[in-house]
Amino acid sequence: MKKMWTAKCSQCGQRFRNYERGALLSSIRKHMWKMHRKWMLARMKAGRLAGTAGNPTVGMVLTAISQGIPIALALIRLVRQRRWNRLEAAVDSFEPYMKPEHRVIWQGVKTVKSIDIRRGK
Ligand SMILES: [Zn+2]
Repeated sequence: MKKMWTAKCSQCGQRFRNYERGALLSSIRKHMWKMHRKWMLARMKAGRLAGTAGNPTVGMVLTAISQGIPIALALIRLVRQRRWNRLEAAVDSFEPYMKPEHRVIWQGVKTVKSIDIRRGK
């Protein structure tokens, strides 16, 4: 019997299945661009900002925050949990210097990240 590949859209939870892994990935990519275009664009921008994925500096996080929630969130979601704890503390130390609206974004992003971590993402 042939192996069935399955995957779930990280944004809306829609399930995909295919016998070919490549076809599965391309159908998800198509779905993401069609249904979650804004999110994809934010993610690409965050990816460019992060450079080495999963290891952004405090400066990169602050830049992402100044560009708004979608970018900041996409960047933060690239960070691995172990790295996140240190990064969170580092960015927290800049909080007193943030503009009020940036502080709100940072708080929101931290909340989402903590939910992600609790869900084991
Ligand atoms: Zn989706």
